[in-house]
Amino acid sequence: TFANEEPLWRAAFPHPGIDAHKYSRGHALVLSGPADATGAARLVARGALRIGAGAVTIGSPTDALAVNAAQLTAIMLRPCDDADDLAGLLEDPRITALALGPGLGRERARALVEAAAGAAHARTRALVLDADALTAFAGEHAALARLLAGVERVVATPHAGEFAKLLSDCPEAREAPSKLAAARAGAAALGIVLVDKGPDTVIAAPDGRAAINTTGTPYLATAGSGDVLAGFCAGLLAQSMPVFEAACAAVNLHGRAGARVGPGLIAEDLPEALPGVLGEVLDPASG
Ligand code: AMP
Ligand code: MG
Repeated sequence: TFANEEPLWRAAFPHPGIDAHKYSRGHALVLSGPADATGAARLVARGALRIGAGAVTIGSPTDALAVNAAQLTAIMLRPCDDADDLAGLLEDPRITALALGPGLGRERARALVEAAAGAAHARTRALVLDADALTAFAGEHAALARLLAGVERVVATPHAGEFAKLLSDCPEAREAPSKLAAARAGAAALGIVLVDKGPDTVIAAPDGRAAINTTGTPYLATAGSGDVLAGFCAGLLAQSMPVFEAACAAVNLHGRAGARVGPGLIAEDLPEALPGVLGEVLDPASG
């Protein structure tokens, strides 16, 4: 078990080469909920963009295109109503990561996860699953594990309630003696990297590696905070970062961004605090 500090992931953190272009820095696709639930996807997208994805697109239900468009500038927008639309968008091999769950609604989320796992380039395209993409498989973690078996890099980011729902049918996770052991058991059962969130976030990989996070602040307990974390994961994975290191870096940097803002923090502040945090953490002169 590691403490989630920079040496664990700094060498794997992506930096643009001198000849970079936006697509060489990865393209993340984020799925939006309907017109009354679009904010979560914009927080995910903003997180992915700030952490260095070269391009970010929101796939939005037709009824929510106008409300999304009114609030986006650098982030692109495409219609995406159902699983067929998603499969169409995912034929583009330049899309290197997909994030889904926040704001989606359980029923829609399940069909979209299925489509993502079966899409063109599904093996190599990274997936970030959060919120409704996880509770859509409540008590059916084995079904989710089967779907994801062919995908090389998957990160799931449940908070405690989502973790309990998703793994309610997994006795090894449910009856584990500690949060660390539960996260390890969940990661092994699902075959993916699991970020078991909370004041003491644990990042666990199916190969048994695990890290306990060391950054953060209780001011992170605010609406939309977890959506930004999902975006940080997606943005790093879009840039081809190895999956366990990407999850560890995202959690560490999310905690640092929260601590930098402190009292008065709202989720929108977290992506905006990231450039300052990255400047400190990645500057070779600082250690
Ligand atoms: P969510 O519940 O999905 O919005 O995610 C909340 C985010 O805030 C996760 O990254 C948690 O780890 C973090 N968080 C929530 N409560 C605390 C706390 N008391 N201390 C530190 N981090 C927290
Ligand atoms: Mg959440």
